[in-house]
Parts: sequence; structure tokens; C-alpha cells
Amino acid sequence: MRIAVLALQGAFLEHEMMLHKLGVDSFEVRQLQDWKQEKDGLIIPGGESTTQGKLLHDLGLLDPVRKAIEDGLPVFGTCAGLILLSREVEGNSQSAPVPPRLGTMNMTAARNAYGRQLGSFHTEASFRGIEGDIPMTFIRAPYIKEAAGEVEILSEVDGHIVAARQRNHLVTAFHPELDNDTRVHEYFLEMVK
Ligand code: GLN
Repeated sequence: MRIAVLALQGAFLEHEMMLHKLGVDSFEVRQLQDWKQEKDGLIIPGGESTTQGKLLHDLGLLDPVRKAIEDGLPVFGTCAGLILLSREVEGNSQSAPVPPRLGTMNMTAARNAYGRQLGSFHTEASFRGIEGDIPMTFIRAPYIKEAAGEVEILSEVDGHIVAARQRNHLVTAFHPELDNDTRVHEYFLEMVK
């Protein structure tokens, strides 16, 4: 098994370390040439969704990555990755043009939605399909405001959806790669298998 990690910006290294810990091979996608390698899944890290979206577009990666996901490539998006995968996004600047994104998941993400102070916090909560609570680190996090029927809700914190799945998509508003608990990554690797 070999997992592509989008490495344009943000917390990609922590995902690579997580995969390494689980004995799974990974490689970084920094340009179109990298994307052509064989892969069984893709991780889109946290960071700044507008920057990553713009880079995906400018590097010619947006369409090929979207196509691969639509064709069934398992994808795991954390935080900014969740925003990039959402069909609709709220909380973008009204004056700036809408930043490019993949938009393959049938839901609406609310960006920076907890307000400036509350956007970053740590908690523990249950996660459907995993036994016991999962540590959750949120950093200027989004949440899922609306999810269509095919989107399965996996976790909620304070009444907000913070993890979901749609067929080959897995998204978390929090950063499982920043905690020692490997179970969310293992959940994704099960989807890949
Ligand atoms: N606030 C960021 C965004 O809107 C996401 C933050 C993160 O990925 N930790 O893209």
C-alpha cells in the first residue's frame, strides 16, 4: 500500500510520520509529475485551504486529483482538506474571488466557524466505528454545517459535525495527525484496503 500526501502547504509531514508509524509507505505530491506515481489513497492535510486550492489550480493538479477521487481513489482530508473537499463553503471573504477547490463531497463546510478564540481547542469525543473516545485537536477549524443523505456523520462536538464519510471520502475538522492516537488513520487505511 502506498499513500500520496499532498505537500503543497500545511501539516503534511505529521501525516507522513503517522503513516510511517503504521508501517505504510507514502510519498509527497508537490507537482503534477509526483501525482503520476502509483497510489492507493490520498491525504489532504490541514493548513490554509485558500492557499492549497490556489496552488492545486496553478500547478495543474486540481482536475487530475478531482478525477481520481471521482473515480474512487480513497481520500482523507483534515481541516483545510475537509474544506477543499466540500461542495459548498461558507465563511470565505465576500470581496475576494471564490478560491478553487475539489468539491467532491456533498456537504457545506463553515470556515473559521468557531470564532477567533474558539477555533483552536483540544477535546475528546466518540467517533462512529472506533471504540472509545478519540483525542481531537482543532486549529482554526471548520465544521460541517450541512451534509446530504449519502454523507455519514461519524462524530459531533458541541452539536457540530466534525467528522464524516461519503463512500471513498473521509474528513475530519480536527487534526488526528497531531495526537499520538493512530486510530483515525487506521480507519482510513481500512477504507483503502
Ligand atoms: N482555517 C483554515 C482554512 O480555512 C483551516 C485551518 C487548518 O487546516 N488547521 O483553510
